Amino acid sequence: MLNDKLHSYIEELIPGREPLFIEMENYAKENKVPIMELVGIEALLQLLRIQDSKKILEVGTAIGYSALRMAEALPKASIVTIERDLERIQVAEEYMGRSKHGEQILLIKGDALEVEELVKGQAPYDTIFVDAAKGQYKKFFEIYSKYLKSDGIIITDNVLFKGLVTESEIESKRIRNLVKKIDGFNQWLMNHPDYHTVILPVGDGIAISKKKR
Ligand code: SAH
Ligand code: MG
Repeated sequence: MLNDKLHSYIEELIPGREPLFIEMENYAKENKVPIMELVGIEALLQLLRIQDSKKILEVGTAIGYSALRMAEALPKASIVTIERDLERIQVAEEYMGRSKHGEQILLIKGDALEVEELVKGQAPYDTIFVDAAKGQYKKFFEIYSKYLKSDGIIITDNVLFKGLVTESEIESKRIRNLVKKIDGFNQWLMNHPDYHTVILPVGDGIAISKKKR
């Protein structure tokens, strides 16, 4: 979101990562898996450190990259993560099996709109991280915010959708509808009576919501 030069500058300042993470980043690139980009995930991890999260719910595991990075950054935390795509589940399980942080993670296989009971069984959560189908963000928020601790935070990824939220002329009807939904979600969230929310233009745009007291 910053200009490219500044973005590269920040990216280059980020220290190296475990070889397995580099392997996962390469896998994601080659197979077009939309894992969080570097500056975005660093911002997320820092928020979780400040929050001192012990119990995290993630909606949208993909190959387990963000889940494993969260597990590494917060060795005392346990992470419940949901994924519905069978191929990605398989890849995620393989990486989690190979990683020393894998034991902190519980992978729930299924559609996030249908596994509420399983997620509830592990509640409450200090942090909820939503990074799944953008058209369903409001539903995810409504279902899972019930299981957030009173001092918890909800972080939602991709709320600026590659900058498309400000684009008025989009040819693809599918993308146009998606943009409308994201914009609707952002408006709804920013005006939610129970939460303070800020949108940060890092990565693909993250919204940070904190329950009002
Ligand atoms: N958080 C991951 C990236 C997630 S990509 C990372 O940064 O490493 C989004 C993932 O959400 C995709 O793998 C997609 O299959 C999954 N997803 C989308 N909608 C979902 C739903 N309703 N239930 C479960 N998973 C979903
Ligand atoms: Mg994302």
